[in-house]
Amino acid sequence: MTKGNEATDPRPEPDLDRWNCQWINGEKVTDARDSITVYNPATGEAVGRVPRGDGETAARAVDAASHALTGWGRLTAVQRTAYLNQWADRIERERNELARLMSREQGKPIEEAAGELDGSAQFIRWYAEEGKRVYGETIPGSRPDQRIMVWRQPVGVVGMITPWNFPAAMIIRKAAPALAAGCTIVVKPASQTPLIAVALFQLLMDTGIPKGVANLVTGSAATISDVFLSDARVRKISFTGSTEVGKSIMERAAIQLKRLSLELGGIAPVIVYPDADLELAAKSIVGNKFENCGQVCNGINVIYAHEAIRQELSERIVELTRALRVGPGDEPDVDIGPLIDREAMLRVDRLVADSQAKGAAIRTGGYRLMDEKYAHGHFYAPTVLTDVNDEMDVMKEEIFGPVAPIASFADEDEVIARSNATPYGLAAYVFTRDVSRVYRMCEQLEFGMVAVNGTSLSVPQAPFGGIKESGSGREGGHHGLDDYMDLKYINLNLEGKGG
Ligand code: NAP
Repeated sequence: MTKGNEATDPRPEPDLDRWNCQWINGEKVTDARDSITVYNPATGEAVGRVPRGDGETAARAVDAASHALTGWGRLTAVQRTAYLNQWADRIERERNELARLMSREQGKPIEEAAGELDGSAQFIRWYAEEGKRVYGETIPGSRPDQRIMVWRQPVGVVGMITPWNFPAAMIIRKAAPALAAGCTIVVKPASQTPLIAVALFQLLMDTGIPKGVANLVTGSAATISDVFLSDARVRKISFTGSTEVGKSIMERAAIQLKRLSLELGGIAPVIVYPDADLELAAKSIVGNKFENCGQVCNGINVIYAHEAIRQELSERIVELTRALRVGPGDEPDVDIGPLIDREAMLRVDRLVADSQAKGAAIRTGGYRLMDEKYAHGHFYAPTVLTDVNDEMDVMKEEIFGPVAPIASFADEDEVIARSNATPYGLAAYVFTRDVSRVYRMCEQLEFGMVAVNGTSLSVPQAPFGGIKESGSGREGGHHGLDDYMDLKYINLNLEGKGG
């Protein structure tokens, strides 16, 4: 029977069970007692479901990863590279379908989702190559018969926990270096975006990667992470998410002194001086701030405009922000999708109300979008606030939403002190043409990453990560591979003639 709207509705009914599985020991596992339904944050429609895995499922996955470890570690780097490159090939081939899936479960515009997948494939390829360069060292001995070597060996089984904001990239930035290093992995994706994780694993399994090397468990964060934390065979946990959960993992990981990588939250400042290219600064700031509806760990939290250009920079930012189109991610020409859930939307609304009550001016936006196509989603109008001061919550909390607060400053020491006055230290941005100032700022800003005259940081060859309460460990670059390797020092004493 034909439904009345079938001919005009461009979106086919989703097959809710298309990605309804976990991956353990190379097999699809579907035998959970319960399932998690995933909803489109733009429409409220169900888009799929996955099994609600638990501690027992996670233990099976750790068994599989543990059994696969020796075999995977013994392959040559070139053999491991072949699987990784095939994975990247498949992601690139399926890019458009994967992008639609990601957009439906996470909300971001399809073009942005496709960009995330392209970046993810590049990441895999970079680590496939870097895995071939796991060199050791030879160190001169203290005696003629002594030989000293340093080897780099895979850490072992790694448990990985990832967030929903970049649901493909956050998995791949961990999985690619770990697999290249010779580790085996168990991944637990965010419960709001598990479908793309299952799809990526399907493509990885299609490469014929040996059973048990890569496992995926969807479901309860508490019980799955308990297994990661309590099973001594899991030698490392790599976590990306909130600082609050990261701290609790760190505390509990201390019991077995597990290695940790923690990629956590941040409060990123951007500092704009009067000598900067203001057109470039405004464009870069708006591009960074509203990417993924502001739900980016290194996304700009506060804009410090020098008082001499505050007015002009604000006007430019407001104008560019007003031009942004908000809507469901799968509609053409949409720049910004919805927030991930109602709680996130209400938090943004609270932050804006707090700023307004404390004297900020709302220059554009400042309200929830609720009419017509927005009625069933978590949409918030892109917002610019001016006259922002340090007492406002937007200056002290991670906003994680489409709100750009503009504060002003007069002096270099002052803006450095205000930028550093946060427990976080992930990313900072500076716009100026004064090279001496560039050095001073880069030296004194207490952040793991600083971008100058630009706002994009994430590339495969560079170490992405934070300091202070933004975490430890790096994703990207040879540093990202080191995070999955242990050093082993060999002291060899030779027999015979002076060794
Ligand atoms: P979250 O609540 O900490 O969740 C992240 C992951 O941790 C999810 O898989 C979640 O599972 C799991 N989880 C939740 N509670 C847990 C617990 N008690 N023990 C173990 N795992 C637990 O963070 P989020 O809200 O999804 O992500 C946003 C945060 O991530 C922001 O603060 C952002 O800045 C940060 N982030 C940082 C980076 C970086 O590279 N520094 C990158 C992206 C995001 P469930 O989904 O099943 O609850």
